[in-house]
Amino acid sequence: MESDNNGPLLHPALHPALPPALPPTLPWPGYRPHPGDAPRDCPLCPRLVAFRAESVARNPLWWNAPVPGFGDPDAWLAVVGLAPGMKGANRTGRPFTGDHAGTLLYQTLAKFGLSNGNYAAASDDGVTLNGVFITNAVRCVPPGNAPASQEKHACRPFLVTHLASLPKLKIVIALGGTAHQSAVKALGGKLPKTPFGHGAIHPLHTGVTIIDSYHCSQLNTNTGRLTPAMFETIFATALSLR
Ligand code: SF4
Repeated sequence: MESDNNGPLLHPALHPALPPALPPTLPWPGYRPHPGDAPRDCPLCPRLVAFRAESVARNPLWWNAPVPGFGDPDAWLAVVGLAPGMKGANRTGRPFTGDHAGTLLYQTLAKFGLSNGNYAAASDDGVTLNGVFITNAVRCVPPGNAPASQEKHACRPFLVTHLASLPKLKIVIALGGTAHQSAVKALGGKLPKTPFGHGAIHPLHTGVTIIDSYHCSQLNTNTGRLTPAMFETIFATALSLR
């Protein structure tokens, strides 16, 4: 804080010329509510509601709410993740935006011509998606990135609505086992017939095909479990099955 030598230092929070910063009311500029988006105050998972409140107390200017789906309403491809990351989508309000997992995902989408604009790890970077919609199995950030079974179950109707609202949907890329299970259930498939496996392709009776991938998390990429080349192969497969 600087002094102009004309009086005592005034804390910025007390300065009449500086309005108080407010938490975001929209996840990104131009956001239009989607029928599959959970209400901002969704009360269905008490543990996650409490965790959201803790995050609000620590970082009141973050999004700290269920993260909406993001993408093209004419999408033929849906990408289903696990849940918002604490410092990623929970902070920025847009799926996979702002953390390591998002860097690889948005880089890969751009490489295959599935996005427009330059990803800048912020929900106001102006990126749009071409034929792709991104959503999650669970819409609120869970402690330890580990939603409980009842939380996955409670949030599934929102995933069902997201996927059902895409009339041109042909392919779902499921990132990790939880996303796989939620996507199979949301699309009316049978889990025993469709075990998760990286690169596995599961055509469902509904005409939608699920392709499994290891999650593009920092842990998986740092350990080499998932390389950028492996991830690109998943998207190349999706394009070949389009
Ligand atoms: S995880 Fe889904 S169902 Fe649970 S509180 Fe959040 S938005 Fe609601």
